[in-house]
Amino acid sequence: MNTQIVKAFGTEAPTENLKPLNIERREVTAKDIEIEILYCGVCHSDLHTARNEWQGTIYPNVPGHEIVGRISKIGSAVTKFKVGDLAGVGCMVDSCRDCEHCKSGNEQYCENGNTLTYNSLEKHLNKQTFGGYSERIVVDEDFVLRIPENLDLAATAPLLCAGITTWSPLRHWNVGEGTKVGIVGIGGLGHMGVKLAKAMGAHVVVITTSPSKVEDAMRLGADEVVLSTDEEQMKANANTLHFILDCVSAQHDINSYLSLLKLDGTLAIVGAPEQPLPVSAFSLILSRRSFAGSAIGSIAETQEMLDFCGKHNIVSDIELIKMQDINTAYDRLLKGDVKYRFVIDMASLKN
Ligand code: NAP
Ligand code: ZN
Ligand code: ZN
Repeated sequence: MNTQIVKAFGTEAPTENLKPLNIERREVTAKDIEIEILYCGVCHSDLHTARNEWQGTIYPNVPGHEIVGRISKIGSAVTKFKVGDLAGVGCMVDSCRDCEHCKSGNEQYCENGNTLTYNSLEKHLNKQTFGGYSERIVVDEDFVLRIPENLDLAATAPLLCAGITTWSPLRHWNVGEGTKVGIVGIGGLGHMGVKLAKAMGAHVVVITTSPSKVEDAMRLGADEVVLSTDEEQMKANANTLHFILDCVSAQHDINSYLSLLKLDGTLAIVGAPEQPLPVSAFSLILSRRSFAGSAIGSIAETQEMLDFCGKHNIVSDIELIKMQDINTAYDRLLKGDVKYRFVIDMASLKN
């Protein structure tokens, strides 16, 4: 297998800062596409993984799964893309393609374990995969997304994870006109959840711990905002929501959010705090409520979401940073101090 050395930014231990690294990637094989990365979003999962908060991080680790760029090379059997096209890569770069879930277009739930963009097994080289904090990436064309030409490219990058992770559950639970939906945690995922749910026609209620986000939430598309630290506001909104999307990255009292659901309502969690969240049986029993979860989305759903965003002019609210600013960005992300997604201008990696 021919390989190439690629400049990247990553970390060698949970307690170390991210720094410049050289990584090895495969050269394109017949069905591969090579993408020169222009922008990469900074997801809270990057931080969880770099710092080994979920355990199982293989070092060195190069995070990044909100990737947009331009195609620089294609393999001999590639049919869907050509050199010079814009392209996107999200959280997954391969799957077994053979199990029940892969065959039914649910490869994000591959029974044999899909290949994630970083910290997963790269089947060709038998090493870990490396993410988008790098100059370029090589991916099988079946896992490469088409990027709408009309959108701001840097602000499109977060759609590849924050966009699809909120789109998929909103669609799965049929959020739309007539639905009153709560979005909890207005970070990268949550702010996309607000924009998408609004564009789907739902009545959107933002539930935040940050007084500083109340006004902004209305600009993002919320119809109402509830400050979750204010018990009176939470009580006043009990039993009012059909569906809640929980995008919180840290420990939080799930029971207080469940109390906002109507009879037969569902709270789907996409946030992935490192510790278990205790659920009181009564939070579910008394109004026949459901507590569910959802992981990213399939490649087909991701393309559907990108096309929808192209049509409705939806992108992320971003703060563009240099690769060298990533450690400060992680510290700010932990404090909820970003409106609403950091995106790395990958040209800075060349400096
Ligand atoms: P983020 O930008 O850091 O946003 C998280 C938000 O959660 C914060 O902005 C804050 O919103 C809220 N929050 C933080 N600490 C809180 C606390 N103690 N109590 C209540 N609310 C709190 O993170 P992100 O990139 O959107 O990611 C969110 C989570 O989703 C992460 O755990 C990430 O790993 C996970 N994720 C899961 C999937 C999946 O497939 N399921 C995909 C991508 C990411 P307010 O200021 O509004 O309260
Ligand atoms: Zn992510
Ligand atoms: Zn599979």
